[in-house]
Amino acid sequence: MAVEYRNLMEDIVMQNLDIVMTAEGGCTCDACKSDVAAYALNHLTPHYVATRQGRLMVKLQSYELQSRADVVAAISEAAVQVSKSPRHGRS
Ligand SMILES: [Zn+2]
Repeated sequence: MAVEYRNLMEDIVMQNLDIVMTAEGGCTCDACKSDVAAYALNHLTPHYVATRQGRLMVKLQSYELQSRADVVAAISEAAVQVSKSPRHGRS
């Protein structure tokens, strides 16, 4: 038996990342997506669960209902910040 845990906030950010970034109108290349995801996750409270696969989806769905508005707000803010100085523009 392995030690298994997971930050549900990461899953919820990834589930909402594309749609929120597209709505913000900024770049959606992989470098910008990575920056936006990291920025958003640094501004959200992590939500770790010790889990086995079977229970994960139930926990994820109920937690997403509670936290979705906060996640969307954090991704929107992150998209604005990243679009001000996109990493893909530097070398
Ligand atoms: Zn980009």
